[in-house]
Amino acid sequence: MRNRPIPGSSGLVRAMSLFGDPVLHAPCEPVTDFGPSLTRLIEDMYATMYAAKGVGLAANQIGVPLRVFVYDCPDDEDVRRLGHVVNPRLVLADGIEMRGPEGCLSLPGIEAGTPRYDHAVVEGVTSDGDPVRVDGTGFFARCLQHECDHLEGGVYLDRLTGLRRARALRAVRRAPWGRR
Ligand SMILES: [Zn+2]
Repeated sequence: MRNRPIPGSSGLVRAMSLFGDPVLHAPCEPVTDFGPSLTRLIEDMYATMYAAKGVGLAANQIGVPLRVFVYDCPDDEDVRRLGHVVNPRLVLADGIEMRGPEGCLSLPGIEAGTPRYDHAVVEGVTSDGDPVRVDGTGFFARCLQHECDHLEGGVYLDRLTGLRRARALRAVRRAPWGRR
């Protein structure tokens, strides 16, 4: 039996920042304070991700411009990958580039075929400051690249070009939350 609490069980569900909110479109700051406020932030991020039925969440999606993301995402072998990374760096993104359906909790109701590498490796630290390395393939590699983009102030729409991008931006304008 494990005695670790379920991630997010002590967290608060926070308001989701939506596409167009400046906090989503600027690079986040590195975490320097590894105190209890960081633990609380990560708990809130898990709680918010689960409430929104997402597979990943970056801190700026709840309005906090710090370099942290959480994930609970199946990989291509359907193995559950669960964790968080503080001050992540995308150290490797390689393999074939595949276009696959991608969505984002900050653009609810919208999905678009987005190109991503099939393999990604992220390095960073945990909330305790211990080094962590996360290696993902397939859908989980997509998730890792998506969350790293968020911390650079990017969203997946930035990866789209041409008609796909135009179509996605039109969907944003027509979304009930879109006119901001
Ligand atoms: Zn997202």
